[in-house]
Amino acid sequence: MYLIVRCPKCGGLLLANTRYKTRTCPHCGKRMKITALIPLARAYTPRDAVTIIQELKRREGGRDRNKYKRHKIN
Ligand SMILES: [Zn+2]
Repeated sequence: MYLIVRCPKCGGLLLANTRYKTRTCPHCGKRMKITALIPLARAYTPRDAVTIIQELKRREGGRDRNKYKRHKIN
């Protein structure tokens, strides 16, 4: 299974295969324990995982990272 997690250092989204215990962030190079991270989403195939990451990035699109969850519909 694949987990979509957020890097605790740079805030970038990344994909983690649950077969491995650690993952290195492709954005900043930080090595992190997968078990210590809170997954944003789960996927059974890499293709699904990439789709989820793209969707999350689109939702955040250019907006302040701390505000995207409180997006108001005008
Ligand atoms: Zn990072």
